[in-house]
Amino acid sequence: MNDRFVVVGAGTMGLGIAYVAAGAGHAVELVEVDPGRAADASAKLTSLWERTVQRGKLDADEAAACRDRLVLRAALSEVAAEPAVVVEAVPERPELKRAVLAEAAALRPALLGSNTSSISIGDLAAGLDRPERFLGLHFFNPVWAMALLEVVVGPATAPETTDAAVALARRLGKDPVVVRDLPGFATSRLGVTLGLEAIRMVADGVAAPADIDKAMVLGYKHPVGPLELTDLVGLDVRLDIARTLQAAYGDRFAPPPLLVEMVAQGRLGKKSGQGFYRWEGGVKQ
Ligand code: NAD
Repeated sequence: MNDRFVVVGAGTMGLGIAYVAAGAGHAVELVEVDPGRAADASAKLTSLWERTVQRGKLDADEAAACRDRLVLRAALSEVAAEPAVVVEAVPERPELKRAVLAEAAALRPALLGSNTSSISIGDLAAGLDRPERFLGLHFFNPVWAMALLEVVVGPATAPETTDAAVALARRLGKDPVVVRDLPGFATSRLGVTLGLEAIRMVADGVAAPADIDKAMVLGYKHPVGPLELTDLVGLDVRLDIARTLQAAYGDRFAPPPLLVEMVAQGRLGKKSGQGFYRWEGGVKQ
């Protein structure tokens, strides 16, 4: 098997996946249709590798070799057939993902993965060429810092594909969990449960957001409280996932009115400067 690795979408997640794959020795093609986004990704990748040199993790030659292993492409049509891996990380819209996956499958990769946070792998696989080679590869943000890779096994995924994904995770320095293709997988279902309950507690006046977070950090050893985490993920993203889970599991996942209200007001968390906390220059105030 060759080691060519293709990542589609150079946003928050695709950039991180490409960076980690190139750092692990893969030749990476990062496909981005938006020229502005592609330029931003290129600059960000250069600065990420500069930082590894400043921190003494790589010497300058090693960092340059990683940078050289990664090239940007403007379309999947520019990628040669039969890469080892294709991972799509385009926005969380089923129709867009289906179109990208169909084009990616035509390249006949040994392994085809989707970084979806909440869309059913079975639904994405419907009509796909070679669905037995397709599964969820759910990385976490920031990809270079988060050890977990959630490997989501769809109804048509072959056991060899799951084994290959677990081996790939380890090559990328990740620690995988293998989960069934049920809505919210393992991470979103549990994480969103905690986040929604914390928001209901703010609405009930149980305590201030900072104290609810502190209770979970000090009392339960969570590294970040559920409300700060909601700010980091984005309230809009959490609302979308809550609605997907509500459709699947019923009203225990009904988004709290406070969440709906905050999203309508544009209080989306870190990215908008205001959520349960105020953020300035990416720093919680
Ligand atoms: P993003 O909006 O930052 O990036 C998506 C990129 O895909 C954009 O640069 C866009 O221009 C590009 N794109 C759109 N259509 C394309 C196409 N046809 N070909 C190539 N590029 C295309 O999104 P993101 O936050 O990186 O999320 C990507 C996926 O990862 C989503 O499915 C999301 O649910 C999932 N995810 C996100 C996070 C997170 O914290 N952001 C965490 C885990 C999983």
